[in-house]
Amino acid sequence: MSGLFAEARKRLKAAAKHLEVDPDVLEKLKYPKETLAASLMVRMDDGSRRSFKAWRCRYDDTRGPTKGGIRYHPQVNIDEVMALAFWMTFKCAVANLPFGGAKGGVSVNPRQLSKAEIERLSRAYVQAFASFIGPDRDIPAPDVYTNQMIMGWMANEYGAMVGHPTPAVITGKPLVLGGSLGREDATGRGGYYVLRLLEKELGVSPEKTRVVLQGFGNVGYHCARLLHEAGFRIIGLSDSTSAIYDSDGIDPVAAMEHKRKTGALAGASTNGKTVEMSNAELLESECDLLIPAALENQITGENADNIKAPLILELANGPTTPDADAILDRKGVTVVPDILANAGGVTVSYFEWVQNKSGYYWTLEEVQSRLRQFLEPEATRVWQLKQDKGIDMRTAAYVHGLDRIAQAVAAHGTKAYFSS
Ligand code: GLU
Repeated sequence: MSGLFAEARKRLKAAAKHLEVDPDVLEKLKYPKETLAASLMVRMDDGSRRSFKAWRCRYDDTRGPTKGGIRYHPQVNIDEVMALAFWMTFKCAVANLPFGGAKGGVSVNPRQLSKAEIERLSRAYVQAFASFIGPDRDIPAPDVYTNQMIMGWMANEYGAMVGHPTPAVITGKPLVLGGSLGREDATGRGGYYVLRLLEKELGVSPEKTRVVLQGFGNVGYHCARLLHEAGFRIIGLSDSTSAIYDSDGIDPVAAMEHKRKTGALAGASTNGKTVEMSNAELLESECDLLIPAALENQITGENADNIKAPLILELANGPTTPDADAILDRKGVTVVPDILANAGGVTVSYFEWVQNKSGYYWTLEEVQSRLRQFLEPEATRVWQLKQDKGIDMRTAAYVHGLDRIAQAVAAHGTKAYFSS
């Protein structure tokens, strides 16, 4: 398989076949606008210094300042960061946010660092990328293994560098430092809203839809919690170390409590019927809805044929490869794509940025109802495009996003304008 970025770009080609776009647009979206690499020298607790590779990629800013999270993971590399920035560009366009797309990453296993080391690493990231980011230029946020506290340190470091607090430089901050109500569960909630908004079309209902969810971090947990509260049966759950399956249903809140206490999901359900399995087995287990909420490249050409779920809701970024898409499509599996299904996070990040800029803060009800209002027309439009053009939902979402980006590029003039 080629690199992740090359794979990601295939989506654009597929979408371009279904939309009349000026060649200028595709030319502009071929490569990232700019990518900066740095090595972060960080003082360890024992007094030594270690260097960590770090990147930030601003993919395209035609529609506004660039937006996207920062990931801390041992496997992060420039190719992955570019792919993730590409996806953010389309996600922001699909959600109709006035942002382009970006992403950042540090190649690190945060579990091997102390809290104080993570703070120094996070501050070093901002020092290295201070001129690259900014409240009107590029606005980071949390992603895999980064959280509110890290965002708070980063905002604080940026404020110290420019000489005044600048909360709008980063989103996903703690509430008391200018964060937004409702940001913590926004990605999971957005996925839940999209599912409920299209429940008739997708044929799901709390009574009959049994759910398997891979990835029990912030995103997966909140989506599982909301589904469980609505009466859906969660029959499978996994984190990076283990997976559990119980056809009677698992209470995700109790499972999280168990994970917090013991550090693992294994043993979370004690009714004696729970089966423990590998992550790979969980993906292929019997269910009505599969929710990948971990990392990219989980459903591939290798295992797509064995997937039993007729419906997939992508809460992770890029969990399904183009190879797998072709197989799933042939099998009649519907995939609600990442750039729609997980757009709730960046949408509430946008709300946080707006609140920081205006200095006026919203209630939780306002945040949640506006999130729904933002996602509703987009989910409906993607479904409509899928039906009208006879294409899968992912291609439909890309067509929808590409249309918005293309209009923005065309507003600066294309060949057709200058030659008439
Ligand atoms: N990391 C999240 C994503 O992949 C959120 C990005 C943001 O809020 O800017 O969508």
